[in-house]
Amino acid sequence: MRPRALSALALGLVLLVTGCGEAGKSPEKAAAPPSASAAPAPSPVTKPSPTRTPAKPKLRPLPKKLPAGLHRASGSNGVALTFDDGPDPRFTPQILAQLRAARVQATFCVVGKQAKRYPELVARIVREGHQLCNHSWHHDVNLGRRSAAEIRSDLQRTNEAIHAAAPKAPITWFRQPGGRWTAEEVTIARQMGLRPLHWSVDPQDWDHPPAKTIIKRVKGATRHGSVVLMHDAGGDRAQTMAACRHLIPDIKRRYGIALPR
Ligand SMILES: [Zn+2]
Repeated sequence: MRPRALSALALGLVLLVTGCGEAGKSPEKAAAPPSASAAPAPSPVTKPSPTRTPAKPKLRPLPKKLPAGLHRASGSNGVALTFDDGPDPRFTPQILAQLRAARVQATFCVVGKQAKRYPELVARIVREGHQLCNHSWHHDVNLGRRSAAEIRSDLQRTNEAIHAAAPKAPITWFRQPGGRWTAEEVTIARQMGLRPLHWSVDPQDWDHPPAKTIIKRVKGATRHGSVVLMHDAGGDRAQTMAACRHLIPDIKRRYGIALPR
């Protein structure tokens, strides 16, 4: 009896630990506000929940609508390309080579942990004229819901990892993982000199659709001034790389490619 109970407990623990590990990893998936265009919902319901014994610090509620002040357009006629979740040793060099061949610049929303692990890729992004965006330390989709101090230290730690790799490189933007912004987080990012960068075109490439689907989604939704969200890390991005071989020259010809401003 007892040994069986013990092994059941052990199994339970193993499952619990595995589950936690995986949950922490999940990318935009959990979050991504539905694709291509702005989908503002009704105003945020901020119903203060009854306070009970404070065990864990509670996450602030996620607003139903994206907060004000997010940059969702490139700020010019050109289209801004953004690549998230890297740097990644397999895919970031591929996209850098494509951008260089097309003679265009993009914005890389880098994860602090990845920047620390692959500093030479961060340095190369900067050296090749691209722009940097802070994308949180470990892709925390709930970061915007945490305390001001936690948000600030996460962004700071990520900035430091970036600057360890590329000293003095400007970090122009911050992008909340999954687009799960809160107004408080937007304010903090601004105070730290990071402008909040959202997007207007999301082909949901994190979900591994085939390249032709990524191409179709991007071409269908892109206009002058769009900000296109794609991923150069966080999973197998071979389909994104293949799509970009068509999309980068095509978007350049139709609209021009520009850094967001
Ligand atoms: Zn992301």
